[in-house]
This record gives sequence, C-alpha cells and structure tokens, in this order.
Amino acid sequence: MRQLLLIFFTLGITSLLFAQTSFIHCGNLITMEKGEPITLSKKTVVVVANKIDRIEDGFLTATKDITLVDLKNATVLPGLIDCHVHIEWEQSKTTYTEKFTLNLEDIAFRSAIYAKRTLDKGFTTVRDLGGQGVNIALRNAINNGWAVGPRIYTAGRILSITGGHGDGTTGARHDLFDPPPNAEDGIADGPDACRTAVRTQFKRGADCIKVCATGGVISLARDGSLPHYAYDELETIVQTARDLGMPVAAHAHGDEGIRRAILAGVNSIEHGTYMSDSTMDLMISHKTWYVPTLTAAWAVADSARLSKGFFPEVVRLKALEIGPKIEGTLKRAYKKGVPIVFGTDAGVYPHGKNNLEFAFMARAGMSNRDILRSATVNAASLLGWSDKIGTIEKGKFADMIAVENDPMVDMKTMEKVIWVMKDGKVIGN
Ligand SMILES: [Zn+2]
Repeated sequence: MRQLLLIFFTLGITSLLFAQTSFIHCGNLITMEKGEPITLSKKTVVVVANKIDRIEDGFLTATKDITLVDLKNATVLPGLIDCHVHIEWEQSKTTYTEKFTLNLEDIAFRSAIYAKRTLDKGFTTVRDLGGQGVNIALRNAINNGWAVGPRIYTAGRILSITGGHGDGTTGARHDLFDPPPNAEDGIADGPDACRTAVRTQFKRGADCIKVCATGGVISLARDGSLPHYAYDELETIVQTARDLGMPVAAHAHGDEGIRRAILAGVNSIEHGTYMSDSTMDLMISHKTWYVPTLTAAWAVADSARLSKGFFPEVVRLKALEIGPKIEGTLKRAYKKGVPIVFGTDAGVYPHGKNNLEFAFMARAGMSNRDILRSATVNAASLLGWSDKIGTIEKGKFADMIAVENDPMVDMKTMEKVIWVMKDGKVIGN
C-alpha cells in the first residue's frame, strides 16, 4: 500500500514538473477582471498547462523549457464566447433537402469543420442552440481531444410544438414522416410531453434546453412570430429543466411569446424581434438575458433580397419581414438597460463570420465596453461558467485571443483575430 501511495505521489510530482509553461508577452492586455475592459500595457500572462497561472508586469525572460509567445504588437483578450450557434449545419440552397440526403455520420464530419472554423476566429466557447444530437457527440469529441473546436455547451435537440419552428417535417410529404416526430425528438405538445422532452435531452447529455416559444424565419412554416407554446407548457419546461440543473433558452420573435417565456422563467430570449417596451421592462425585472443575433438577421434579409431562389418563398417572405427589425430592437433594449449577451445564430449564415456581430452591435448603439462584456463576462455568466472562462485571471482556463488594435478604441479590430489559445494550446499559427 505504501509503495502504491509512493507511486501515485511520484506521478503527481512528475506531471507537475512536466506541465508546459508559456509566457505570453502582451503589448496590450484586457483581462476583463471584475467585468471592466481596462487596457493594461506591457504584461506577461503566465500559463501553466491549461490554466492561467499569473499576470506579471513587463515582459518576463523565458528559459529554454518555457514557450514564449510574442504578442508585443497586439492586444490580448479573453477567448470570445458566442452564445447562439448551430454547429451542425449551415444554411444553403440545399438545406431543405439535406434531411433526405445526409446521415448523422455525414453531419458529424461536417460539423467538425464548422467547429474548427469557429475556434480559428477566436470563439473558444460556444453555446449550441439546437441540432440533431451530433452537437452533444461533438462536444464530447472535442473534450476528449478527438476533434479540435471550441468548448461546446449544447441544447441537444430543440423543443417545439407540432408544426413549430423546430419541427423539421413541416412542409414535407406526410407519409415520409409517419409516425410524426415525438417528444423524444423534441416535438412536444402538452405539459406531459414537454416533461418527457426535457428529460430526454437531459438523458442524452444536453447542457441546457432550447425551446421555440414562437414561430421562426427559416422553418418551412408560414408563421414566424405567433406564440407557439401555451403558458403551462413553458412553465413545465422551465421547471423540469431547473430541477435537472439545466437553464432554458427561448427562441422568440413575437411579443406575446417573449412575454410568456419570461414569465415562465427562461434564462434568455433569442432574437426578440417584436419585443415591446413593457416586455423589455419585464426582461429587466426578471433578469432575463437578451441574445439579439444581428448577424443572422442581416444574413437572412440579405439572402432573401439578393440571392434568387436561396430560400423557398414561404421563408423568403419571413426573412424580408423579420430580419431588418432586430437591430432596432437591440437599440431600444440597450437604451433601457436590458442585460445583453453576444450571440450570432451562426449556421443561419456561414460559420466563421461570427466576428461581424461586433460591428452590428456597435451600429445598434452599444458602447465598446458593453460589447466586450457581452462576449466575455456576460456570456460566461449566462452559461454558469463565470468561475472557468470570460476573464484572464489566475485559475481560469487559458482561453485567450489577440487582435491587432485596442478594441476599446477600434471595435473593427475584432473582425480579425490574429492568435488563439484554447485550454493552454495555441490553435493554428
Ligand atoms: Zn438559432
């Protein structure tokens, strides 16, 4: 026994001795400590294994066994967090026929490409809000080192009413999907089925629940904004999820659906297009996060206007109607003080263009400080991961990025991330 203990002890010491140490020389450093983007100059971030060990003044001299990263001409920030992506798919002219042509295995290989692309652009963590379950497998694969991508926090499958935004069989020949999808697939009507749907996602390993509280743009249903779930259904979903330790994100465009979702206790409203002033007040009093997804709003409106045949007609009309409105909603919500989290709906537009959201948020009137907070500390708080990510501080995961200029002065610089570290490992070059 004593011998065994000795071996364990020795192994412990050895792994400590061999933990890779890196010195990151930062010309500018924004740690986001206490949530404030203060630009510090000439700092060294010391990384040991996959964690931030400490921050020192000036540029420390590295000995041979220490990896040195020279970012003396750059600004280093915490890794970015996109709280609304769909890592499994990407909208294209063939999206609506893919359910007849792609197997889950195909989707899995493709999603690994999207994950890497997202990480390369500086998003070291994403909240995936719905797919077919490949998202859960991809999260596990990345955590196991079988694939390279951001930390994934995922909803698994979307919860939706029959014929709602998450019902992929809407618009298809009836006999092709017979029997129709059920609660285990995320299509649930009535509180009992809603309970089963939440518990099924829990069983499969989802981190959170995504519910479609109203219609949506890219589903083949004619409605894009009416309330879809009754209050008792939403309440059941939130309560069941809460019992199992899972937060709930609500996709919602119309005001009534948004209102019901907030009252039922969801943690975030996604899109929020037609949110009224009184509903914004409700967001504030319930401390519900708003995730606007401006990049997707811009992309769907643009594709609907410029690319003939990109969308089926039923989708095109909704895209033209809903897309352009979200920026105005964010403008009002921000002025009122609704808490905002960065999320882009990547997948609705090509993965890897997530960084466009920074400029869209700036155009909607958000200050540089609040934009940076939305993509770091606020996002970490929504995920319940404030102790792990969102700032560059001792003990946090070594997830960091670098951009050319100081984003507090030049937000455009966020569109070109020049260096990414995730979990203490440098990604790409
Ligand atoms: Zn979405």
